[in-house]
Amino acid sequence: MPDEGKEVERRHELIIVGAGPAGLTAGLYAARGELDALLLESGLPGGQLLLTDLIDDYPGVEEVGGPELADRMLKHATKFGLEVETATVNAIKKLEDGDFRVTTDEGTVFRARAIVLTAGGTATKLGVPGEDEFAGKGVSYCALCDGAFFKGETIAVAGGGDAATEEGDFLTRFAEKVYMIHRRDEFRAQKIFQHRVFENPKMEVIWDTVVEEVLGDSGMERLRLKNVKTGDERFLDATGLFVFIGFRPNTGLMEDHVDHDEAGYFITDRDMRTSIPGLFVAGDVRSQMTRQITTAVGDATTAVITAEKYLKELAEPAHETAKT
Ligand SMILES: Cc1cc2nc3c(=O)[nH]c(=O)nc-3n(C[C@H](O)[C@H](O)[C@H](O)COP(=O)(O)OP(=O)(O)OC[C@H]3O[C@@H](n4cnc5c(N)ncnc54)[C@H](O)[C@@H]3O)c2cc1C
Repeated sequence: MPDEGKEVERRHELIIVGAGPAGLTAGLYAARGELDALLLESGLPGGQLLLTDLIDDYPGVEEVGGPELADRMLKHATKFGLEVETATVNAIKKLEDGDFRVTTDEGTVFRARAIVLTAGGTATKLGVPGEDEFAGKGVSYCALCDGAFFKGETIAVAGGGDAATEEGDFLTRFAEKVYMIHRRDEFRAQKIFQHRVFENPKMEVIWDTVVEEVLGDSGMERLRLKNVKTGDERFLDATGLFVFIGFRPNTGLMEDHVDHDEAGYFITDRDMRTSIPGLFVAGDVRSQMTRQITTAVGDATTAVITAEKYLKELAEPAHETAKT
């Protein structure tokens, strides 16, 4: 029996935080490499895959539902013996002895020699009626993922920053017409992205306007819009709404400072090392150009292999290896 009031601490060589595509891939490689690894996930394993209706850009899998791919990834990793536990990590701190202390909402405290952080991120929602109901049935937060489903259709993009303007322009490869709905009378995006919008004949900007409601039947059919200056309301027929009003990486768990970019994403070297030795990150928490399933699983593969090397070096410091 532990002493009353004494914290129960569990030790592992490696702790992976988050069971999205990055975490499950990290888990697969760690278990297959016979590392003493534990994966902590706050919800159901799968991460953003659980929000994705259909995936048609994962090589070798022509079409698959997000939850099914999540299930397959989980089964694949646990087949190699990966241990997955439900726990919400609330803080990670590097201790003076070089270990990491991982605390959870559930009260269990873990220690690990290395961490692979794959806590992903969350797209900011508009928070309007119909948005959740039609998510995956017209409403999307990822142009690269879902743009191809809107060939020849009329769609709308909400937002006015770099992501909205760049992705809106990209979406005209598929859509016949893209309305940009922006709550102000000018974009805050870089000029180069603004020009692309203004010069693209398939794009039209609806200024000073917000989306009030997403409407439809089995799929999205129209939007109710409101002009914020006049208060006038109108309906816009559109089968898709891409929302680009922000994406927040889940990086707040780290108590120590970790180098990050302007938007808060962790900066790594090409081997997924962060500015804290022993902390590796992969997937959507990482500063990079593209955030996809393929990039998440690629990052995670590298992260675990680098973590494995790090652990080996801790166990056998280079000078000792050199002596033998
Ligand atoms: C609607 C939608 C459609 C998409 N479609 C595609 C597509 O078709 N093709 C494609 O390539 N990409 C697509 N994407 C993007 C893709 O899903 C992401 O790039 C990918 O999931 C990132 O993986 P990840 O493991 O880094 O993060 P995530 O998938 O975000 O997983 C992070 C995990 O960490 C867990 N977590 C977070 N905080 C904690 C904590 N404190 N403690 C414990 N666990 C925690 C979360 O619960 C989650 O399970 C889509 C995204 C969305 C939202």
